Amino acid sequence: MASRRKTTKVIIVGGGGTLGSSTALHLIRYGYTPSNITILDTYPIPSSQSAGHDLNKIMSIRLRTKADLQLSLEALDMWKHDPLFKPFFHNVGMFDCSSEAESIAELREYYQALIDAHAGLDKTNFWLDSEDDILSKLPCFTKEQVKGWKGLFTLDGGWLAAAKAINAIGLFAKRQGVQFKFGDAGTFKKPLFADDQVTCSGVETIDGSRYFADKVIMAAGAWTPTLIDLEDQCVSKAWVFAHIQLTPEEAAAYKNTPVVYDGAYGFFFEPNEDGIIKVCDEFPGFTHFKKHQPYGAGEQKCISVPRSHASHPTDTYPDASEASIRKAIARFLPGLKHKPLINRAMCWCTDTADSNLLICEHPKWKNLILATGDSGHSFKMLPNIGKHIVELMEGSLQQDLLDCWKWRPGGDALKSTRAAPAKDLADMPGWKHDARL
Ligand code: FAD
Repeated sequence: MASRRKTTKVIIVGGGGTLGSSTALHLIRYGYTPSNITILDTYPIPSSQSAGHDLNKIMSIRLRTKADLQLSLEALDMWKHDPLFKPFFHNVGMFDCSSEAESIAELREYYQALIDAHAGLDKTNFWLDSEDDILSKLPCFTKEQVKGWKGLFTLDGGWLAAAKAINAIGLFAKRQGVQFKFGDAGTFKKPLFADDQVTCSGVETIDGSRYFADKVIMAAGAWTPTLIDLEDQCVSKAWVFAHIQLTPEEAAAYKNTPVVYDGAYGFFFEPNEDGIIKVCDEFPGFTHFKKHQPYGAGEQKCISVPRSHASHPTDTYPDASEASIRKAIARFLPGLKHKPLINRAMCWCTDTADSNLLICEHPKWKNLILATGDSGHSFKMLPNIGKHIVELMEGSLQQDLLDCWKWRPGGDALKSTRAAPAKDLADMPGWKHDARL
């Protein structure tokens, strides 16, 4: 294996994003020769159209499946201890809360499941049952504001300085000698095949350049279903955020505040070093359906095609999002209600029907490996997901992960495991400020 690692050439499409950069890192850590690794991306790493190109993302333990728990715990350990990732984990804790009886009951069940997982989580997760309990963790809130709230406080949570962490991988990869191609020379057009027409031998990019390799990893996030026909296994959707610029005095009042999340409203993060708070609402995402023909489809099909803020910087988000983000601010940050919102934007992910990742070799094309289907919750796995992608590539991935992430057409990726199907941006006025397609 060691000698094969030295000579195997790997192309990572979307290597400037989350899953792709993590794959590059772990290829290097497994002993692959850095100059045999080629990262292709439309934008330089950290790609400005990556869903991970953001001020912050939530770190928390996910428990939906056994695999989720394993992956979350591995990630937590690396965010806490791996020297590459440690500087980007702001371990301020997270409060997952509600004031609605049904949601409180669900949160309580979740809390119990964490305890019952017997993974030592009873030492880091606590139920906050009263206003005083809550104020002890969230002194910037008022008693009146949190009346009737209850929820789960976790010491294992906090936020990740997302774009900075991807950048750190990029700098490391550059220093090691990984090859990079960006712009038209890095933008995937189609896979290349050996004479047998089933063995993938490389990639052609939109400027006509051809790159050859033993393995091609397709980690183009929300763009993957537009590039390769995934037989409707993934539907790409946008979520939204806005920022609030605080004065230094205002920022001081919120410093070290845990991430606060309420599924009926959204969530917010403490101000970053520039005094910027990010606020998100919570909803089932927006699609952008168009007629489009990905490689491998016999004809054009109706596909949700991402439209990134990087390529359309004047686009914002729908009017409906302004209202729901304002509602979240009124709930969490009433003292900042009067402040203007800045940097309103949409950011693209791709949902599978069961919200598990899609990480497998393409069933028809040998050596073409899909690493996508992030389902809106995969940034937290930046430190460890690439390890498992390399294991899949080498044929050593554990069976339960193979089963979770296999090629699996069918199901409803438009709704996925969310409360409702996504609405389409065509029906949502207010976001489009750039006439270009
Ligand atoms: P990306 O990181 O988007 O990478 C895809 C890459 O492919 C990009 O770099 C892109 O430029 C490149 N690409 C596209 N087309 C081409 C092409 N033709 N050729 C070459 N390259 C191409 N996750 C969490 O864990 N915690 C959170 O709190 C959280 N919050 C979120 C909030 C919002 C608003 C959004 C939108 C997402 C959030 N997520 C969160 C989800 C997380 O960001 C994604 O799951 C994750 O970043 C997806 O990683 P990816 O590698 O699949 O895609």
